Amino acid sequence: MSDIKLTNQTSTAEVRELTRLERIGAHSHIRGLGLDDTLEPRDVSMGMVGQQAARRATGVVYKMIQEGKISGRAILLAGRPGTGKTAIAMGLAQALGEDTPFTTIAGSEIFSLEMSKTEALTQAFRRSIGVRIMEETEIIEGEVVEIQIDSASGTSDKSGRLTLCTTEMETVYDLGSKMIESLTKEGVTAGDVVSIDKASGRIMKLGRSFTRSRDYDATGAQTRFVQCPEGELQKRKEVVHVVSLHEIDVINSRQQGFLALFAGDTGEIKSEVRDQIDGKVAEWREEGKATIVPGVLFIDEVHMLDMECFSWLNRALESDMAPVLVIATNRGIAKIRGTNYKSPHGIPIDLLDRLMIISTSPYSEAETKKILVIRCEEEDVEMADDALDLLTRIAMETSLRYAIHMIIAASLCATKRKAGEVEIEDIKRVYSLFVDVKRSTQFLMEYQKEFMFNELDRGSESEE
Ligand code: ATP
Repeated sequence: MSDIKLTNQTSTAEVRELTRLERIGAHSHIRGLGLDDTLEPRDVSMGMVGQQAARRATGVVYKMIQEGKISGRAILLAGRPGTGKTAIAMGLAQALGEDTPFTTIAGSEIFSLEMSKTEALTQAFRRSIGVRIMEETEIIEGEVVEIQIDSASGTSDKSGRLTLCTTEMETVYDLGSKMIESLTKEGVTAGDVVSIDKASGRIMKLGRSFTRSRDYDATGAQTRFVQCPEGELQKRKEVVHVVSLHEIDVINSRQQGFLALFAGDTGEIKSEVRDQIDGKVAEWREEGKATIVPGVLFIDEVHMLDMECFSWLNRALESDMAPVLVIATNRGIAKIRGTNYKSPHGIPIDLLDRLMIISTSPYSEAETKKILVIRCEEEDVEMADDALDLLTRIAMETSLRYAIHMIIAASLCATKRKAGEVEIEDIKRVYSLFVDVKRSTQFLMEYQKEFMFNELDRGSESEE
């Protein structure tokens, strides 16, 4: 189609998986936003519990993304730790489906020795912009007259010839090992009606011919031509690939080669490569061969970014191909990293001004319990009712995350004493083995002098 190389769909899926792997654990129970047809949040659905207002607002964002109306907009999910900001972003990704590129990074990932901050941000942006490419391929249907496999060339690299009879004529195809593999898999023999996809070389068995094209004598030799199968024998089919701009960048950057996609070790990509690709994609768009699929870039812990990153984001959002930017933070009024200025959420006012802000609120006891029940199911842990009540109380007094982490540890305690389900004593045991933040802080206050690098005294002196 052009001199710009594209990856195939399998590798795209694998790359997506690799970049998401880290977060699958904590949010594996989230399967969508749990909204009904009118985009109203259901009480408990798709692993999502409560947080109605934030989910309703995210539902509107979902609709806008789906209709392609929100490119270049930015959304801030703000709320206390453990109130489901990341869960909601994950739910949005699930709801949008595989074809919408969704990239997740944590603010701190931008700081790496291998590439500049702006290069890391550029890569994250371009990972979140999909290019849907339409390609035409020719499908030929006909009856197999003869198959010849060249046995001299060994098993690993077989070749051969296939004679196909269409209504118009007999055509001979040279078979590569891939085609022979698909012939064998489908069990194709002479007299079968098959289709051949010219682009991929895939051969599919459609059935036996009703009117046999040829007669065979007792020795199997062909004697007489009778009639070819009827119908439309040559078809054109559209094949659609969605690849991200970043994937096109990587496989066209001479230094890297497509293997860098699997290693995740892409290094810096030259701006000339990107310019050339942008030009080519613009050409395809004009010719109607490609469309842009603006995806979503989710930056968690956005307060970890500094002024340079924020101003880069501000400018990048102006581009007509920009993805939807969803950022999240649990900070209140905080210093903007690398400056002495304080600002809401540690985000500069000019960026804050263009954000649509969705806030998340703490969970009620009943909602917390429901989330814990879902997590128990997800982790395949049976828990007695009173143990669950205790765990819920612990979650309310410490944090939801701490309680979620206790589930598997308590289940191991139960297994150790050969019990089928987690009981109060297992929860108590885990609670005494692992301290939560509150107890850990209390411990530090009491025994601070015995720790190395203790800064509490100096900190309180300087604040006074
Ligand atoms: P932080 O500010 O610390 O990053 P957060 O607001 O992003 O926290 P999450 O990580 O989304 O919080 O939530 C903590 C855990 O609770 C996760 O395992 C998450 O999947 C789960 N969780 C949070 N909210 C919900 C919810 N509404 N429904 C189901 N599970 C939830």
